[in-house]
Amino acid sequence: MVHKQEGTVAQALQAIEVNPYEMFKTQVRLAGTKLGLPPDLLEVIQTPERVLEVSIPVRMDDGSIRVFTGYRVQHSSARGPCKGGIRYHPAVTLDEVKALAGWMTLKCAVVDIPLGGGKGGIVCDPFELSEGELERLTRRYTAMILPLIGPWRDIPAPDVNTNSRIMNWFMDTATALRGEPMYAIVTGKDVAVGGARGRREATGRGVMIITREVLARLGRDLRGTTVAVQGFGNVGSVAALLLHQAGAKVVGVADVSGGLYNPNGLNIPELIDYVAQSPKHLIDGYSAPGVSSISREEVLFLDVDVLIPAALEGQITERNAARIRAPIIVEGANGPTTPEADVILEERGCLVVPDILANAGGVIVSYFEWVQNLQSFYWDEEETNSRLTQLMQRAFRDVWQLAQEKKVNLRLAAQMLALHRVAEAIRLRGIFP
Ligand code: NAD
Repeated sequence: MVHKQEGTVAQALQAIEVNPYEMFKTQVRLAGTKLGLPPDLLEVIQTPERVLEVSIPVRMDDGSIRVFTGYRVQHSSARGPCKGGIRYHPAVTLDEVKALAGWMTLKCAVVDIPLGGGKGGIVCDPFELSEGELERLTRRYTAMILPLIGPWRDIPAPDVNTNSRIMNWFMDTATALRGEPMYAIVTGKDVAVGGARGRREATGRGVMIITREVLARLGRDLRGTTVAVQGFGNVGSVAALLLHQAGAKVVGVADVSGGLYNPNGLNIPELIDYVAQSPKHLIDGYSAPGVSSISREEVLFLDVDVLIPAALEGQITERNAARIRAPIIVEGANGPTTPEADVILEERGCLVVPDILANAGGVIVSYFEWVQNLQSFYWDEEETNSRLTQLMQRAFRDVWQLAQEKKVNLRLAAQMLALHRVAEAIRLRGIFP
């Protein structure tokens, strides 16, 4: 079912540098042109609605003051309030946040939930901060972006290096400053303070569902399917566990500390327990009969049926794409494959399920959390998981059908479907004034 991209598309993709925002704009231009959307409308969709940069002074434990830079980008509210995570990482840049915000718009549209796209980030290394410093940084950042966000404007969530504890502080700060409960201002909170049951596992669960769907289209199922997972954090570890529980053989995993390989399948529940108890939550030091150590990059090149990149963007590049042996890639991470690598993978017949579809489980259950907060009416985990499955299956079916119909690959089909929906919303609303 892999279709070749047209020459012009491949050439244009090869020409761009891996600035994520340039990558996003090029994707919109190419998919939009294929859809026949006018260039002025594409310019509206390429450009974020609002960009906020804040300087965040934080009193450090030693008494000094350090100023951090933070961003919040609202890419599009055409289909609903902006939605997207907050990343704490030393390599955060404004262009990265703009791109991630744009991809959120496309992601919400491809799974057809009534939300737009946004993203935030703080340039920092959270592992160098004490608990108190991290809390003060989070609370001050919340206060500084508060004038622009809200349950009907823009609803943040966790992303790389942020978690439920940080979302709890975020909600508590907004509540304190606004003087009324603000549960619906952020998702990914703990269940005791308005979180949705099943949110923590949602992205990994979505990756499992999509893997199952793609295999079914190829006349196969998860039993005995071999899998390699790069990244063993929230997304990677949950995806690995659910795939393992469904009968797949997860033979390789890697995190920032290195990789592990067992051709007979790793004991994923045991590995998750090990990581939970290890001081830095890494797989480093794990050993078991039949398990050998590999480098963190080698996991990408294992001879498996399915490869799941679930670490950071830009992992599969022009440099290493030709070494990938898996015939199916399901993108758990955002932007793990560069456009140049995409072209190489396509030439080799590799079927890539794109990030905006494959990892949408997180934002779908964030949407459910927001709905529950607004209604103060909470669901059980079974209901969440069954609704998540329904939405993921519907989106997969829509993208697969469009890919067949238009003879394009799944990435282009997902982008075209999403863009069509965003463009339609803009057209129906009209341009104010
Ligand atoms: P996380 O911080 O929980 O985990 C990241 C994992 O990647 C860690 O195990 C880390 O050690 C590993 N890693 C980092 N660099 C690596 C490298 N060079 N090689 C191998 N492993 C490496 O983050 P997460 O929430 O699991 O997010 C992972 C990806 O999924 C990101 O791209 C994120 O944007 C995307 N994503 C996350 C969610 C979510 O709900 N958390 C939703 C959609 C997409």
